[in-house]
Amino acid sequence: MIPPSFAYHAPGSVDDAIALLSQYGDAAKILAGGHSLLPMMKLRFAEPEHLVDLKNIDALKGIREENGEIVIGSMTTENELIASALLAEKCPMLPEAARMIADPQVRNRGTIGGDISHGDPGNDHPALMLALDATFTLVGPNGSRQIAASDFFLGTFFTALEADEILTGVRLAPQAANTGASYQKLKRKTGDYATAAAAVVISLSGETCQSANIALTNLGATAMRASAAETALVGQVIDEDLINQAAVKAMEICDPAEDLRGDAEYKTHMGGEMTRRAIRAAIQRAGGN
Ligand SMILES: Cc1cc2nc3c(=O)[nH]c(=O)nc-3n(C[C@H](O)[C@H](O)[C@H](O)COP(=O)(O)OP(=O)(O)OC[C@H]3O[C@@H](n4cnc5c(N)ncnc54)[C@H](O)[C@@H]3O)c2cc1C
Repeated sequence: MIPPSFAYHAPGSVDDAIALLSQYGDAAKILAGGHSLLPMMKLRFAEPEHLVDLKNIDALKGIREENGEIVIGSMTTENELIASALLAEKCPMLPEAARMIADPQVRNRGTIGGDISHGDPGNDHPALMLALDATFTLVGPNGSRQIAASDFFLGTFFTALEADEILTGVRLAPQAANTGASYQKLKRKTGDYATAAAAVVISLSGETCQSANIALTNLGATAMRASAAETALVGQVIDEDLINQAAVKAMEICDPAEDLRGDAEYKTHMGGEMTRRAIRAAIQRAGGN
């Protein structure tokens, strides 16, 4: 289908983009990679009269270290995440997961900021951001604010972003010593969204689990932290019994929508299995057995 007609704007700065969003209000939409927005426009689920394309704003691109944190500009593409030597060294779960997103064409244009801002429970970055304890920078007409990933995802296609705000970047702590992370994603075929996926970050002190972050993709109205599953692991020497207990706790919070990828029971079961696999891999990468 062909989308309704719209006016196209390509501002060169964040300030100019915000001015356009303020001017056109609900009639405007931000365009990043376009791989979620344009399909919605073609289906007429979204009918913006003005598109504000962020592609010319250099300040929104790139991956760098700043004051001991990793800062990723919102217009950084999946392929740039995959190619980043800094992320490979300091946050390897992110490029690992980006390789599992969609297909080469989508990864070439799709951005981390668009993936997060869209609020789709099927997108992979929301659970990754939750498991990595990321902070987002949002800029609007009244200035800039920081918001934790845990406060950002409010429901399906519903986030803490105001209509005149731009997600400008993501801040992450580099992976600490004795820490391992893994993203395990079940999908029916290359290029598909997750049937179920789990992001896990585990820190060990000797063989004992010091901290565990577990987040789930496409298993509820939005990405979610599996807090009870995390609690089951912390302070323990993790064995298969505990991994199973954590997986069961994760399954208890799953409430997936049924679709062609499976019914709720199957998806929940696979959510448990992805959690098990991600915990095992994270422990191994943290230097445990
Ligand atoms: C065939 C196919 C398969 C896919 N498979 C996967 C998958 O497996 N996993 C996955 O995670 N995704 C998948 N996607 C989605 C893809 O990753 C999209 O690129 C992503 O969801 C949106 O990023 P974008 O840059 O294309 O954003 P756009 O489509 O341009 O924008 C998406 C939404 O976010 C808003 N927005 C964008 N950037 C900002 C910003 N900086 N600040 C505020 N609002 C903003 C837009 O206004 C729009 O509402 C798939 C897409 C396709 C077409």
